[in-house]
Amino acid sequence: MLTFEHITLGQRVLFGTGQAATNLAAEVERLDARRVMVIAAPFEAEIAKKVTEKIEIALNHDEVVMHVPLEVAERARAAALTHEADLLVCVGGGSTTGLAKAIAMTSGLPIIAVPTTYAGSEATNVWGLTEASRKSTGVDDRVLPVTVIYDAELTLSLPVEMSVASGLNGMAHCIDSLWGPRVDPINSALAAEGIRALAAGLPAIVAEPQGLAGREQALYGAYLSAVAFASAGSGMHHKICHVLGGTFNLPHAETHATVLPYVLAFNAAAAPEAEVRIAAAFGSRTALEGLQELRERLDAPKALADYGFTADGIAEAAAVLLPLIPASNPRQVTEENLTRLLQAALRGEDPAVASEMVLEGESR
Ligand code: NAD
Repeated sequence: MLTFEHITLGQRVLFGTGQAATNLAAEVERLDARRVMVIAAPFEAEIAKKVTEKIEIALNHDEVVMHVPLEVAERARAAALTHEADLLVCVGGGSTTGLAKAIAMTSGLPIIAVPTTYAGSEATNVWGLTEASRKSTGVDDRVLPVTVIYDAELTLSLPVEMSVASGLNGMAHCIDSLWGPRVDPINSALAAEGIRALAAGLPAIVAEPQGLAGREQALYGAYLSAVAFASAGSGMHHKICHVLGGTFNLPHAETHATVLPYVLAFNAAAAPEAEVRIAAAFGSRTALEGLQELRERLDAPKALADYGFTADGIAEAAAVLLPLIPASNPRQVTEENLTRLLQAALRGEDPAVASEMVLEGESR
């Protein structure tokens, strides 16, 4: 019996290499915007300048901080109000998109998102804010950008290492969707195609960082991954990474890239449908083998210790996390197995070995 409920979010997507400035000008006109607030971090200023060369700008805002601290959001909201912005254009990675979302959340202003990483925030209605070292996320359709403008040229400047981490963040959206709380046949199909596209695109970027073919595949995969994730909802992997990012200030993409094989190894045996689907998308014998072979080729991030996490944080992380793990998770999560998973990810242990150790004597 095939019975499910699925919501498709309404958003215009314009995908075209070298076309961002033209597409943006057309969208600003279509939306009849007069006072555009452009949001881009200092690192993204050059890209934003090129992308916005055909539009009039009322305000450039560049105070962007990862995980969107509340005070940073408040200042941006005040700036939008003072300058009477009627449209937000964000050009940058997930942090920049996140700031635009924080403004839209309280003002209802429309967003045109022009992503420059593979984080995927532009295709979700999920916002994130950090207050007193706790990151909270929520869903609000007002934060979904009305239009996304994808242009692979804008990602050429993203260094290979960051491209890999960011692309694996997209991969995490796909894989975690397959056991997300609202997983359904449509978001599973999008996730599987996202895995395929990212698995094709990321090695091509490593082989030829200035080549556009790999960048296009990765961007396409990143979009699919985000649509799947927005539809299926946050699974165990995202809960872990949000707590690590918000509470311990670990870098977002690298944390996702590091934790993903541990969650996959942990869940795969208890999620046979996801296992088959992921393995098929990778064209590999098992899901974990597919991911690990890809990670090997990409020289992907391996240990949370490399990003500032320490053993001292594990007990706190596990305590904050346990109540957040969705009931849909295929395998029962306990303080003991979660602690073991975090220890393994901290040290960069072999995920297959670590997950088997946790499985011993455990009830599923
Ligand atoms: P980021 O936006 O923080 O960017 C990382 C760094 O790369 C920054 O210094 C940025 O200026 C720079 N950069 C971006 N694009 C570049 C380019 N093309 N060339 C050179 N440098 C470039 O990192 P991210 O991983 O894209 O985003 C992470 C944030 O996004 C986190 O806060 C995360 O929670 C959020 N996020 C939210 C969602 C959602 O659905 N709400 C989804 C994914 C990520």
